[in-house]
This record gives sequence, C-alpha cells and structure tokens, in this order.
Amino acid sequence: MNFNIAVIPGDGIGPEIIREARKVLDAIGVQYSHSFSYTEVLMGGVSIDATGVPLTEEALLTAKNSDSVLLGAVGGDVGKSSWYDVAPNLRPEAGLLAIRKGLNLFANIRPAILFSELKSACPLREDIIGDGFDFVVMRELTGGLYFGDRWTKEVDGLRTATDTLVYNEQEIARIARQAFEIARKRRKKVCSVDKANVLDSSRLWRQVTKEVSMEYPDVELTDMLVDNCAMQLVKDPKQFDVILTENMFGDILSDEASMVTGSIGMLASASLGDTKLGLYEPSHGSAPDIAGQNKANPIATILSAAMMLRYSFDLDAEANKVEAAVKEVLKKGYRTIDIMSPGKTLVGCDKMGDLIAGEIM
Ligand code: NAD
Repeated sequence: MNFNIAVIPGDGIGPEIIREARKVLDAIGVQYSHSFSYTEVLMGGVSIDATGVPLTEEALLTAKNSDSVLLGAVGGDVGKSSWYDVAPNLRPEAGLLAIRKGLNLFANIRPAILFSELKSACPLREDIIGDGFDFVVMRELTGGLYFGDRWTKEVDGLRTATDTLVYNEQEIARIARQAFEIARKRRKKVCSVDKANVLDSSRLWRQVTKEVSMEYPDVELTDMLVDNCAMQLVKDPKQFDVILTENMFGDILSDEASMVTGSIGMLASASLGDTKLGLYEPSHGSAPDIAGQNKANPIATILSAAMMLRYSFDLDAEANKVEAAVKEVLKKGYRTIDIMSPGKTLVGCDKMGDLIAGEIM
C-alpha cells in the first residue's frame, strides 16, 4: 500500500530524529512492500524564518491532505532566540496549537512503556516494576476546564476567580470510542478516570463511557477516581492498559506516567480525531542544547512512527516489528547519551536509527 505522510522536521533536534524515523519507516516499507511518500512541511521557527508565521495555510492544507503527520519538534532557545521577540501567536509553539486545531484532534495518547532493559531509569522499586509495564494515557484535548468560560471579578469586596468545566455527551462519547478502539488493539482493558464522587461533569463522563462500552463487549471497562489513579500509577502501574480521562486529569496523569518510565528521549505520543489522520510526535521538545551534535535519542520519534503505523494505517504487525526492533537494540546494549549506563555501548542519533532499521531488514 502507499501512504502519504506529511513530515514536519521543525527545529533543533527535529530534523535529526525525523531522519532516523524515516529510515525505520523505509525499512518497514521494503520488508512489507509498502511505499511511504513524504511531503516536508515547514512549522515552527524554520517557518517563521521562511514565511514570517509559524504555520502557513498552505502548510496546514498539506497536512490535512495527507494520510498522517509525523512531527519532530518545534521551538528554540527561549532565552536567546529572536523567534520569541514577537506576540505569542507568532512564536514557534503557536504552530503546534494551530495544527492540532486545524486537524480537529481531540484525543492525545501517551504510552508509558518501561522496557525491562531500561529498568534502572525507573524511580519505582524493583518489586513494583517486575518485567516492566506498558500502558497508555488517553487524554481529552479540546474541552473541560482549559476551554471553559472563565472570569475574575470582585464579589463582596473580594477578588474572585471562576473557571468552568463543561463536557457534553458527544465530546465524551467520541473520545470513549477512540479509547475502546485503541484497547481492542492492545490488552482490551479501559480504565476511565474521573471524580464522579464530586463533579457533575464526571458523573456524565462515567455514564456516557458506560453507554459507549456496550458497543465494545470484548473490552473490559472499569472506573477509577482520579486521586486513586494518581496513587495506583506508582503503586501498581502494571494493572493499566488504556487509561481514559478528561483534559486536566489527563494533563497531570500523563506527566506522572511518563516520569515513571525514566527517559524523555523514549516517550512517544499521538493526537487523534474522528478520522484516521493523526499527528504523531515525541513527547519531548526541540532540545536546542544538543541540536546538530548527533546526540539526540531518536527512539521517541521512531516509536511515534510505530503508533502511526498502528493507529492511522492499521498496520499492526509492522508496528509490532518496529517496537520489537527497538527492544532488541536496547537488549544488545546500545544507548544514546541520555539513557547511557556503565557497560553499555554509546551511539549517536544516526547510528541508533541504523541499528533499529537494521533489525527490521
Ligand atoms: P526539551 O524536551 O527540548 O529538553 C529538555 C531536556 O531533555 C534537554 O536537556 C534536552 O537536551 C533533553 N532531551 C530532550 N529530548 C531529547 C532526546 N530526544 N534525546 C536526548 N535528550 C533529549 O524541553 P525544553 O528544553 O524545555 O524546550 C526546548 C524547546 O522545545 C523550547 O523551545 C520549547 O518550547 C520546545 N518544546 C517543543 C515541544 C514540541 O514541539 N512538541 C514540546 C516541548 C517543548
């Protein structure tokens, strides 16, 4: 099959890590007889330099017309770069918000995978980690407290601030469906996280999620209160498969989940909407401190490309192959500097990409 991928290298280490992800995708293409066509799209600082804005209408259109989008990272050194001497809506990161909105992406998925080979990077106790863990946090991205009406005014002589948390049943149902679909490709368990003992929005969340679950009798649904979930993530992370939650709870829980896996260079992510078109990117930024030095860890971007194969293209075997290749290279002891430990072999960004692509060929 042929897939058209809009590729956004972006700034800093973006072009280096994207190059390695493309290497790995091309290896998959050869092995499984697919062809991946790439159209490069400017976004972030490089787009500001070329066009004056972080994302042009044409660039967004190219992304919209593709089968999926693979992004490196955008942004410069905030203290030093002239990209930040302008209004916030013209800065590199504004491109990110514009593309997520333009592609109507409402669900963010962050996998938390602890590879047994990298156990030493995990802050949890050995008996809790076991052989490692593998779950995803699915966070609603476009509703809830961050998008509700808010105001600050004087009430009875006191400055008083109000934020509103609104979800309608449609917004809940569409992300719940995504969570069940994702779970079907995994261990078929969804844990919906809310604060239904206090919040009306959570009670509706719980009710609608339950209704949607009727369409997925093969997937097990459980509910958990968010405060309990925060504890369970460090007490027994192995119990989770897909954690489904609203915007603010997801913001906090996904950061907690990523911390228990150790290195930032290993964390993939995907943002999905109603269609198969998704935006796949590492969770880290453009790391200007190591840009152009061949020191970046490309694995987060390579694992994001694996998510693209699985969720946008339904190529599960190919996605599994990429993940197995990453695991094998780690097992053989190869490490970029961010995950280096004594006795292992230090490699640069390009070599890491070569090794992972080599495992696929
Ligand atoms: P960062 O994630 O870029 O870097 C934090 C630290 O982690 C740095 O020391 C960096 O060297 C290291 N690091 C990050 N990715 C790595 C990798 N793949 N391999 C090895 N080491 C890695 O965060 P920051 O320094 O706060 O931000 C730098 C720039 O990135 C800023 O302009 C910020 O706005 C932008 N940013 C962009 C995104 C995005 O594009 N989605 C996300 C976060 C930050």
